[in-house]
Amino acid sequence: MENGSSAMIRAQGLSKYYGPFVAIEEISFEIPQGQIVAFLGPNGAGKTTTMKILSGFLAPSQGHASIGGLDVQSQRIEASRKLGYLPENGPLYQDMTPIDLLEFFGEARGLEPEELDDRIDAVIDQCGLDLVLEKPIGKLSRGYRQRVGLAQALLHDPEVLIMDEPTAGLDPNQIRDFRQNLQKLGQTKTILISTHILQEVDAVADRVLLIHNGRLVYDGTPVELKEDGSIEQPFYRLTDHGRPPQPEPEKAEEVSKPQPEASQAEAESQGGGE
Ligand code: ADP
Repeated sequence: MENGSSAMIRAQGLSKYYGPFVAIEEISFEIPQGQIVAFLGPNGAGKTTTMKILSGFLAPSQGHASIGGLDVQSQRIEASRKLGYLPENGPLYQDMTPIDLLEFFGEARGLEPEELDDRIDAVIDQCGLDLVLEKPIGKLSRGYRQRVGLAQALLHDPEVLIMDEPTAGLDPNQIRDFRQNLQKLGQTKTILISTHILQEVDAVADRVLLIHNGRLVYDGTPVELKEDGSIEQPFYRLTDHGRPPQPEPEKAEEVSKPQPEASQAEAESQGGGE
């Protein structure tokens, strides 16, 4: 491998700052070939930011990311050949039909016409798109739009797939279909998928990365994460039950004000016991 690591997805000390705001900080992990990894965390935790950096769409403030050993910033084109990225809200280009979109992206990716025809047939089949090929993407159901997004991500048969909340807004049947597709894909590809559906983690993931306030707070198997057979409880605990992050330094004083009350209450309770 070009960077000496056998990881297919590698995040090395990734941080992203927007002015003084820390979106993610010091995120590091390595995903070996063939693993399906669930990326969990509350809204705003930093999942999309991390995935965009790993996909080369966003430059990190600090750190490095690589796909298949190729740096996503300095070897962007080569790295993108190994990567299929499904963004949060599926494909743009709402007026295009799925077939036009696939041809457009195939040409943009430099696939030769014959190879492109074969690959388009393959992803239409894989994603069950044959009934909607001529319908504008904007008129398709959310489930079908996700399938078009997946077809686009799979078009060049990449070794690595990064998918940002691909099951958001899908109904239970669509989620089941997607999950089955994911399990098939997982037999040959390395996959990082963000989701809020914790049951999905059990069904498909070999490993969990949990991010909270821009920092990685868990990296391990779903089995090790579970408490009493459930992922919900450790998720709530590790994410502070959804409480907002620590206050900014200038607000710290306001927060420290209740302390005298607490000690007064303590004194009262002690007094009450006498
Ligand atoms: P998640 O995908 O886990 O919901 P995001 O990665 O989208 O989280 O966002 C992480 C944090 O970074 C959020 O607080 C979000 O508001 C902030 N953020 C994302 N993009 C920008 C931006 N362009 N400018 C400022 N803040 C941003």
